Amino acid sequence: MSDWNLEHTYTTLPQQLFSRVESIKIDAPELVLYNRKLDTELGLNFSHQLEKTLAALFSGQQLAPDAQPIAQAYAGHQFGYFNILGDGRAILLGEHITPHQKRVDIQLKGAGTTPYSRRGDGLATLRSMLREYLISEAMHHLGIASTRSLAVVKTNMPVIREEVHEGAILTRIASSHIRVGTFEYAKRFLSDEEFKKFTLYVCKRHAPDLVEKENIGIALLEEVMSRQIALIVEWMRVGFIHGVMNTDNMSIAGETIDYGPCAFLNTYHPNTVFSSIDTQGRYAYGNQPAIAQWNLSCFAGTLLSLIDADQNIAIEKAKTIIHLFPTLYNEDWYSMMVRKIGLETADKNARQLVDGLLRWMKASEADYTLSFLRLMQIPLPQQQQAKYDDDAWKKWEAEWLLIIKANGGIDKALSIMKQANPVFIPRNHLVEAALDDAVYQNRYDSFNCLLERLQSPYQYSVGYEEHFDIPIAVDQGYQTFCGT
Ligand code: AMP
Ligand code: MG
Repeated sequence: MSDWNLEHTYTTLPQQLFSRVESIKIDAPELVLYNRKLDTELGLNFSHQLEKTLAALFSGQQLAPDAQPIAQAYAGHQFGYFNILGDGRAILLGEHITPHQKRVDIQLKGAGTTPYSRRGDGLATLRSMLREYLISEAMHHLGIASTRSLAVVKTNMPVIREEVHEGAILTRIASSHIRVGTFEYAKRFLSDEEFKKFTLYVCKRHAPDLVEKENIGIALLEEVMSRQIALIVEWMRVGFIHGVMNTDNMSIAGETIDYGPCAFLNTYHPNTVFSSIDTQGRYAYGNQPAIAQWNLSCFAGTLLSLIDADQNIAIEKAKTIIHLFPTLYNEDWYSMMVRKIGLETADKNARQLVDGLLRWMKASEADYTLSFLRLMQIPLPQQQQAKYDDDAWKKWEAEWLLIIKANGGIDKALSIMKQANPVFIPRNHLVEAALDDAVYQNRYDSFNCLLERLQSPYQYSVGYEEHFDIPIAVDQGYQTFCGT
């Protein structure tokens, strides 16, 4: 009746890495969202099924005949401190092979306790699962590597946090759920031989070319670092703040994963933090590259025995690679930023323009996304426009225009900027309003409308100005929450 095409290669790995589990029994699962486009892309072809069937499938009540549900073990440095973790509220149904022969994990998040739940209840609130669905899909459509969201099913069972909430299960699709934290766990609990087998498995799955490399430890470290650099540069481009970049939330495949307390910048400031638990600003917008480097050094620490038999030599080799991070990141970041102002080459003049623009944005408390739209000659509402009637801005803009003219003119610049600057991002106030309607009123119009718009984030049409009317002091007191 279906096109499940499941395989289970992860369970061929040493058994310390996972536990076989069952999902909780739910009497009345209820389908809230189903991503039909993604269903087609994956070749699942469930879209014609009754909602009741979809609800049973994507809450783990009706398993594919060949499903072998497991929870994965992992560890992680959370806010700098090492902990043993694992899927405490997620189960992996298996690896689905798409019509394009891509292998993807299908995971149910919020589907009950597992041996790794510690004191948690294994559950997730409807609000947090809707949030993950909306923002992960928005990231994908922004062109940023991300896990995807296939379905949200209400459990019609209460979830107790500070208050009573509705429960839900999200079906998450990922290239894999192997994290830096999975390596930290494997290093600690596997023998050297098993660890090598695990590393080879990961390479085969995510970077098959590396398997033949002379030094697989170095090759994998370089590959994961280059994917993380590419990913963080993309986050910075659109003003995304992940919010909880613990090593267990950093995917080896280089996808954005775990949409807990994430949020988007409005006013530009590198110190922006929204997560309620990030009191030190460890995961602030501007700190993300430094934290990625920190996480990669944890990753490197797990690979030492593969890098060199002599630990001191291995450490030196790993350090040399990790120390390249800031230079490589800066190159890629400037290459990206100059495109946001319509230039192709990140030469000295272009870099100075970028620096000057960000300095101005910070001092003027300007909106990050809108400042680039303004350069693209998109009309902003009066209240936003006023920011740019300012001598410092006019001076910067005049210099910018001179350089644009010397580099092929404004039309060329506009076509570059169109690809680099989203018109729509999931603005925090719009996300929260849509979630309020869905959770408190059971009305999904604003959620679906926002979701629809976020699927074409680079397309501007007249009449979209309302989306740029950002309430004054919108971020004041705005907080996001983890693991809810
Ligand atoms: P996160 O902050 O969402 O990345 O989660 C960190 C760890 O806590 C992971 O091992 C999760 O599986 C676990 N966790 C989060 N929420 C729950 C919950 N409600 N029940 C059990 N485990 C949880
Ligand atoms: Mg996590």
